[in-house]
Amino acid sequence: MAKTSAAKRPAATSQIKSRIRNPKSRKYVYFFGGGKADGNRNMKDLLGGKGAGLAEMTNAGLPVPPGFTISTEVCTIYYEQKAKVPEAIEREIADHVKKLEKASGATLGSTDNPLLVSVRSGAKFSMPGMMDTILNLGLNDDAVEGLKRKTSNGRFAFDSYRRFIQMFGNVVLEIPKEAFEHEFEAVKHARGAKIDTDLDEAALRDVVERYKGVVRKKSGKAFPQDPREQLKMARNAVFRSWMNTRAIEYRRIYDIPDHIGTAVNVQMMVFGNTGDRSATGVGFTRSPATGAKEFYGEFLINAQGEDVVAGIRTPQPIRELEQVMPKAYKQLREITTRLEKNYKDVQDFEFTIQEERLFMLQTRNGKRTGYAAVVIATDFVAEKLVTPKEAILLVDPEALNQLLAPGFDPAEWSRIPTATKGLPASPGAASGQVVFSADHAVEWVNQGKQVILVRRETVPDDIHGMFVAQGILTATGGMTSHAAVVGRQMGKPSVVGAGELQIDEKGKQFRVNGQTVKEGDYISFNGLTGEVKIAQVASKPSEILQVLDGTLKAEKSDIYQRFEKLLSWSDKFRRMGIRANADLPDQADLAYKFGARGIGLCRTEHMFFGEGRIPIVQKMILADNEADRRKALDQLLPLQREDFYGVFKAMHGCPVTIRTIDPPLHEFLPKREELMVEVARLEATGKSGRELAEKKSLLQRVEQLHEFNPMLGHRGVRLGITYPEITEMQTRAIIEAACKLRKEGIKVVPEIMIPLVSLVKELRDQKTIVDRVATDVMKEQGVKITYLVGTMIEVPRGAMTADEIAGDAQFFSFGTNDLTQLTFGFSRDDAGKFLKIYQDKKILDRDPFASIDTVGVGAVVRTGVQLGRKTRPDLKIGICGEHGGDPASIHFFESAGLDYVSCSPYRVPVARLAAAQAALSVKVGD
Ligand code: ADP
Ligand code: MG
Ligand code: MG
Repeated sequence: MAKTSAAKRPAATSQIKSRIRNPKSRKYVYFFGGGKADGNRNMKDLLGGKGAGLAEMTNAGLPVPPGFTISTEVCTIYYEQKAKVPEAIEREIADHVKKLEKASGATLGSTDNPLLVSVRSGAKFSMPGMMDTILNLGLNDDAVEGLKRKTSNGRFAFDSYRRFIQMFGNVVLEIPKEAFEHEFEAVKHARGAKIDTDLDEAALRDVVERYKGVVRKKSGKAFPQDPREQLKMARNAVFRSWMNTRAIEYRRIYDIPDHIGTAVNVQMMVFGNTGDRSATGVGFTRSPATGAKEFYGEFLINAQGEDVVAGIRTPQPIRELEQVMPKAYKQLREITTRLEKNYKDVQDFEFTIQEERLFMLQTRNGKRTGYAAVVIATDFVAEKLVTPKEAILLVDPEALNQLLAPGFDPAEWSRIPTATKGLPASPGAASGQVVFSADHAVEWVNQGKQVILVRRETVPDDIHGMFVAQGILTATGGMTSHAAVVGRQMGKPSVVGAGELQIDEKGKQFRVNGQTVKEGDYISFNGLTGEVKIAQVASKPSEILQVLDGTLKAEKSDIYQRFEKLLSWSDKFRRMGIRANADLPDQADLAYKFGARGIGLCRTEHMFFGEGRIPIVQKMILADNEADRRKALDQLLPLQREDFYGVFKAMHGCPVTIRTIDPPLHEFLPKREELMVEVARLEATGKSGRELAEKKSLLQRVEQLHEFNPMLGHRGVRLGITYPEITEMQTRAIIEAACKLRKEGIKVVPEIMIPLVSLVKELRDQKTIVDRVATDVMKEQGVKITYLVGTMIEVPRGAMTADEIAGDAQFFSFGTNDLTQLTFGFSRDDAGKFLKIYQDKKILDRDPFASIDTVGVGAVVRTGVQLGRKTRPDLKIGICGEHGGDPASIHFFESAGLDYVSCSPYRVPVARLAAAQAALSVKVGD
């Protein structure tokens, strides 16, 4: 998934302007053919992924039909120039058409040897099915006869022509597909044909005539007959498809920038539809669902490319190709194995066989599930195809999350009968209410429901619904159908091609083996086995979590061992330490098992919410004199000491950073409105006495504490300064816990962290208290403890005066949540209302609370680091905001020179891998 890299791409506009001024000096079109290509695999920015792959395969001497790539820059220019391509570039394209005619020995529009081409979209990042491709371009009423004469195959010639008119009509002239399909079905029906291939030449001539009629009627013009005109129109349509709604939505989901544009590949056609010695197919060098080392894919005899993915006919598994065309199969295996070695990654390829002759049409690194990614990376190392260092660059850190997702409880799962089985396209357990349209999926999820999107087949327009669903279930299509490809990419459990489902999308129900399932009914399926059941099934923790909590032995879990191996390789290459944000012993324990070696943030106030503690905390807050406050604090002391003891112990002596009390006190008290109602109720029922008096005084105190801007109010260090006895109690609890462990032989180095400091004198005030109490406790206990006192840098003034603050602070930890809030002046509790609109309007690329704003907040962080280390060169600096678990942010923290990142326990594996990739300066996830 492209989650990490969009942020730092340069804006294209300035570069483009300079190009336009002097178009002659630049190259916009890149040829490939005859064993040589102008481009290569490293030129994805210019050629797009498809173009770069075609160039690379050509250079490697593989059988690739010749062609040329119009670069992504032309797309940007096309938009800049309001849908025009400059003359000079038109000429460059025309020259390449000539070159292609020469290389292919055929001529566009010729009546005895016509050149036919495909016009294929292809951006830097693959966007399956989002943009358009047109096949068989160059055919017209004369050329089709030429094609027939040349091949002596009239059926094939007219099959190609009808396909071309339909694709061109739909993509370029924007005529709905149904208009064509309607005519096609009519002819099929009239001739009693069951499948497309039953139609003979005469029938296809009829289809062509009807299609031309559709074009005339719907576009008001005859179908364009000039191949060069067709080519221009198709090219521009591909450019336009870059900005269609579904492509824009796709880029939004995957953080792909809009400005990079698409390339256009014009390539000589080869034909899989000339008869039963021809075929077309797609495949993977390994299973993209499970990572298993098996040749994986599908093909169709006598068909053209799009038939396989569209699910019109059910394709055959690729293994069967060995029986039908053994020579082509053997060659395909050899070529794809070579490609995998060359790219050092799983390849996702397209091929066509024309009269037993194999042609390669595409290769790219295959998208895969998180599960498969880990299996493949570890297998590659075992096979010595890559080194451990290369292996850790094969896995998108975000994908590791899929391995932590729950599965079904096997006992419960086996109790429920299986309703049907489909193809296991993307692993994972999904359970939810059935919906039949993408729009409904979104609507229901917004109402807080969990849904499963059930479709006959999915189309690219369904992407928004697929994104929010728990899982995707389809009735048709194979392992490489749209639903399967997108499901895997999203890490979404998917079962496809469950052929027994009789789906009535209009009636909002499906039938399967005598049962009827209506919209809103619960179903569940297992994406690893393909089993579908009609029930809601509770899930259970992933295998990895089972190993961590001791319910499953590590030796019994293959995936756990691989996961662990991959992360231990990562640990060798990362520079930054990984800590976790954990407040309670069990969280700390989990974090440690996930590989965190330290706590970067232990929020003490979360302990205040523990069982039976709130009344004591309230007593402390309500006290109107120091003596009463101390009495309450004395009651809290042993509880806090036990908490800290537990956290220290769970971390096995690794550093633990404990933050002194931070939130505004009203958060511990009942809501003002609720109290007012309470008081009124007590008064109305005539009850007097203690209860009423208590509530009244509580209300009075709540009103005293009420603030207009609590997040900017009496909180953080400001509390410690006004109530020093809280800092005293917390310090005592920390040091006493450390002493206790020390006596048990466990050495801990507590790091006491003062929040929200903006003035060095605030820190000094608190440090004096901490040092005094710590000295007292150590004397009482007769134990010497090493401890540090440091501060959170989360107020811009703190960062800007970090040189002063570092004089007293022994460490810094950037609190990037507050720092983002205060640098932008966005309230992080309210920003949700406008941040989405900011993103839609491209004012902000992403939510700065999720992924750090490297430019603005980043500048504040860099300043803080630089000033802090000026005063104290060995200052230990970490980060403990939400950003600590975000791969893109981790790359930034690496470049800013931080010593560690701290994140929530579940993000620790992601952070370990991302930190290694950051240390190697490679962003994975594009
Ligand atoms: P997508 O990116 O949607 O896969 P492609 O440009 O790869 O679109 O093409 C769609 C289908 O047409 C693929 O199956 C591809 O293999 C096939 N195809 C593209 N170009 C040619 C060609 N020159 N000859 C034969 N088939 C082609
Ligand atoms: Mg393709
Ligand atoms: Mg804070």
